[in-house]
Amino acid sequence: MAATSRWQYLDRIRTVKGPFTDDDFDGSVVPETMDIMKILVIGAGGLGCEILKDLALSGFKDIHVIDMDTIDISNLNRQFLFRKDDVGKSKAECAASFVERRVKGVKITPHNNRIQDFDEDFYMQFAIVVCGLDSIEARRWINATLINMVDEDNPDSLKPLIDGGTEGFKGQSRVIFPTVTSCIECQLDMFAPRAAVPLCTLATIPRQPEHCIEWAHVIAWDKEKPFPKLDKDDPEHITWLYQKSLTRAQEFNIPGVTYSLTQGVVKNIIPAIASTNAIIAASCCNEALKIASSCAPSLGMEENYMMYSGNESIYTYTFKHEKKDDCPVCGTLARPLTVNSKWTLQDLIDHLAERPEAQLKRPSLRAEGKTLYMQSPQSLREQTASNLAKTLKELGLESGWEISVTDAAFVATFRFILRFEA
Ligand SMILES: [Zn+2]
Repeated sequence: MAATSRWQYLDRIRTVKGPFTDDDFDGSVVPETMDIMKILVIGAGGLGCEILKDLALSGFKDIHVIDMDTIDISNLNRQFLFRKDDVGKSKAECAASFVERRVKGVKITPHNNRIQDFDEDFYMQFAIVVCGLDSIEARRWINATLINMVDEDNPDSLKPLIDGGTEGFKGQSRVIFPTVTSCIECQLDMFAPRAAVPLCTLATIPRQPEHCIEWAHVIAWDKEKPFPKLDKDDPEHITWLYQKSLTRAQEFNIPGVTYSLTQGVVKNIIPAIASTNAIIAASCCNEALKIASSCAPSLGMEENYMMYSGNESIYTYTFKHEKKDDCPVCGTLARPLTVNSKWTLQDLIDHLAERPEAQLKRPSLRAEGKTLYMQSPQSLREQTASNLAKTLKELGLESGWEISVTDAAFVATFRFILRFEA
């Protein structure tokens, strides 16, 4: 009795006929379906801890979690499933056993792995995938994998992907029905890489503590070479940068340089705030509950993207992000790419890394059946490296030609139609 009364309020939502349930719904099936339904959580960090707790308390009984990270002492202020004794242990394993202890009847299977360690057969066993990641690259990988898995003759091959993300006081949650609605790659330009501070600002007129730290990191380190190679995990190296930054900040009367800020800027750590994680994780898990039980319409087919901003007061906005026909992952058309014929192939490669909708760091390029540059194997890289200094014109490329770009980090081929600037 105690076991069922624990869920009685949840079951009022899950089993009572409502405006969004099917006509023949009698309320008896949902708990059973949710009891056996497998759901996958990717990431057991700030968002992942919240997601695991929320899913377990929302009636999911068979949860898997993937995370290859180990627990660091700095995680403990917000990753509340971990204790001091857990430092150094696997996040996935500690999170799973904590939630299992607290919520009886829930099974959580941890995987101390990279997502790329698993194949389609593994991902096929889940009904829903929920991501709580801080890496765009990992999101792009799972997005492309789930889209590749869709088989029109097998409705079970379509796995709803729920993605949460936070940065400081801002966050978003979105629901993707692979191949049907706008995907993570369609939405990539919403996540432009952070603009670099111009070198001249660093060198001449710093205005923020971060500028002083970047100055120490980029300019002072190179000039003085206090150690042969910068190791961002070595406290001695970070201390050197911290002291340099502090001296510079004092010169310009800029407050706010601390050791931990220095570490954050140098390691490019995105600030994480416990309550933003809680808000975004909660909204992701409500969508999972709605998809699993049909108790209310979920984000997805129409409105599919909720953005939250707590930077200035509070603001949320939910909208429909449209699928793109020229999305390299879920679309069919090649994307136009404006280039200049005087660019070298290296310029083009740098451009692909910076463009918000491409963000390809290690691309290999082919054009009309001809290899322009290959990152691997090494023999091909050496053979094609001489092309990097040649201009697009010298390489014989013409406006209107299609180039295909692959990057070892992704399972997609990116197709672009060259448009030469007049
Ligand atoms: Zn897409």
